[in-house]
Amino acid sequence: MNENLLIDIKNLTLAELTVLLSDLGKEKFRALQIIKWVYARGVTSFDEMTDLSKVLREDLKQRFMVSDWTPELVETSSDGTRKYLYRLSDHESVETVRIPMESGKDTLCISTQVGCAMQCQFCMTGTFGLTRNLTVAEIVNQVCASLKDGPLQSIVLMGMGEPLHNLDNVIKALDILYLDQGCGFGPRRVTLSTSGLVPQMFELARRVKVGLAVSLNATTDALRDQLMPVNKKYPLAELLKACREIPLEPRQRITFEYILIGGVNDTLTDAKRLVKLMHGLRAKVNLITYNEHPASAFKSPNPKAVEEFQRYLLDRDIIAIKRASKGQDISAACGQLKGKLERHDV
Ligand code: SF4
Repeated sequence: MNENLLIDIKNLTLAELTVLLSDLGKEKFRALQIIKWVYARGVTSFDEMTDLSKVLREDLKQRFMVSDWTPELVETSSDGTRKYLYRLSDHESVETVRIPMESGKDTLCISTQVGCAMQCQFCMTGTFGLTRNLTVAEIVNQVCASLKDGPLQSIVLMGMGEPLHNLDNVIKALDILYLDQGCGFGPRRVTLSTSGLVPQMFELARRVKVGLAVSLNATTDALRDQLMPVNKKYPLAELLKACREIPLEPRQRITFEYILIGGVNDTLTDAKRLVKLMHGLRAKVNLITYNEHPASAFKSPNPKAVEEFQRYLLDRDIIAIKRASKGQDISAACGQLKGKLERHDV
């Protein structure tokens, strides 16, 4: 049997699997039984699905398979952050970061593309360009593989790639991860981060519930044009107008990520403009200190500048959370592990 002709169950939503099974003359409820085995119990062999008849299991083996990932490389930081690199079937690679939170539980940062087309200047992934979108199974498998290392509190789509450039696969992956009978992540436990693709932000909001984060990083179009070329297409005014118009759940806030880069966007003048931009928004600001690395000329900000920046926002009633830079010693900024691997210095 040619394995390549088999359909990976992890590429299918429950609705899609139900249709395929019913086309094969099987009972519809079998789809949910299979999904429970795969996601709630982590089973990847049809032979272990003991509440399915032997005949059905044999039929399934002719048409389907269940992919199962183990990392090619794991780096663990002194602060407990773990970074996994997975090799894909076409020899590309993708990375996932498991970050311990103060609550004692972990957040998983997953990727949605191999590389990225957005060219953000502070991001190493941006320098690789886009190779391809990840499949639904490749997005979901990052979570399944990490769950083998223990439960996860939340998932953030903030790794390699612009999730809204791979919208259909991302939405299907969320549909799978949300299933109560499977992984059971509710929309409140998942956050998607975008560089600011305005039309796709509206489409996302129409099609699925998920926490929204916007990577902002600058308070003037002149600087954001430089740092994030997407700004030339969707400048700040248009982006923030969209953020005001997108319907939010009660108590939901949009997260604005602001990477503080030394001498670039970390002054009190920037903070002042940021306060103005946030006016009328249900927002919180995540202040992330830039992680210096050899391939970039950008510098980490002065800790005092970070303190003053945060204080300025807090004093004006803006929720501003300083995100500790996790995994400093294992290249945990997005794209850095892949960068190291490709330069063969891991
Ligand atoms: S920051 Fe995100 S959107 Fe920007 S280049 Fe990197 S991966 Fe792409």
